[in-house]
Amino acid sequence: MALLGEFGLIKHLTQNFKLNHQSSIKGIGDDAAVLNFEDKQVLVSTDLMLEGIHFDLAYTPLMHLGYKAVQVNLSDIYAMNGTATQITVSLGLSSKFPLEAVEELYKGIELACNKFNIDLIGGDTSSSKQGLVISITSIGYADKEDICYRNGAGENDLLCVSGDLGGAYVGLQILEREKLIFLENPNIQPDLEGKDYIIERQLKPEGRRDIIDLLSQMELKPTAMIDVSDGLASEILHICDQSELGCTIYEDKLPIDPMTYETARELGLDPTVCALNGGEDYELLFTIKQADYDKLKHDVDITVIGHMTDKNSGAKMISKSNIVHELKAQGWNAFKL
Ligand code: ADP
Ligand code: MG
Repeated sequence: MALLGEFGLIKHLTQNFKLNHQSSIKGIGDDAAVLNFEDKQVLVSTDLMLEGIHFDLAYTPLMHLGYKAVQVNLSDIYAMNGTATQITVSLGLSSKFPLEAVEELYKGIELACNKFNIDLIGGDTSSSKQGLVISITSIGYADKEDICYRNGAGENDLLCVSGDLGGAYVGLQILEREKLIFLENPNIQPDLEGKDYIIERQLKPEGRRDIIDLLSQMELKPTAMIDVSDGLASEILHICDQSELGCTIYEDKLPIDPMTYETARELGLDPTVCALNGGEDYELLFTIKQADYDKLKHDVDITVIGHMTDKNSGAKMISKSNIVHELKAQGWNAFKL
């Protein structure tokens, strides 16, 4: 890598990337990229991922990591009900990192860009004393009237979530378990059999652009929306807090995949707790007016899990045995480590 130098490295890594969007006027190669969104509002979101805090290279293939780093960023643009169009990628690379490793990382970034039609328009590259650092900024746009904020929910609105929950967290527990077994005895091969779905949920999440497209086809604009990165309970509380409301959700409505459910049980975990607090699902949580219910009631990929109430009622979950629990944010939080 030292042979290539910083400029050579950037050129080498980014040579296959093409600009596809009209809004991308100038990409990599000048002091700043130039974008033109004409009459749209521009959405910008950044995430920082640190080795040892957000990912563990012991079980995270670099291609997956590149793919995931892009997806988690796009997810924030979709959560605003926007179209994601560009990203910048900034890297801190330690000297132990061979060129092939950075190439793998960029393969994953390229895969995500191609699949979701995203232009890579710049970034920054530096050496890092310890560990890999990846920061991605995603840029997108939306018409002013289409943007969904966290503060738009109304009393009696229905609370909906896409896909299923808890899988990424339970997948992580399996990867962590296998890592410990491997560290104790490197001759034992990891046993991930039958766990592909939840492992994939952890290593290769997908931003739910399809849900944004679906809502637009249904002509249904959520009143509030957020993506599930820290855990359902934590995201629900953000909507409650910012919309100045309470809510009631029902345990028996939480969408949990059978593999997530069974594996959680195997590991001695409560599947409901995994769904509420697991995080990294990158599903969309949103509220809709009751009058819009008919538009999505037949969609199997969207589940109504409860409704918004007045602020004084607080945020509640009714358990399967009809006990009322207060929802608490115990979401995954890097600061807790
Ligand atoms: P500057 O000195 O102005 O910061 P750099 O030498 O860091 O410029 O970057 C040169 C060009 O390469 C810029 O267009 C920058 O956005 C882009 N770039 C730098 N690092 C990356 C990266 N890791 N991925 C993609 N583009 C990058
Ligand atoms: Mg720079």
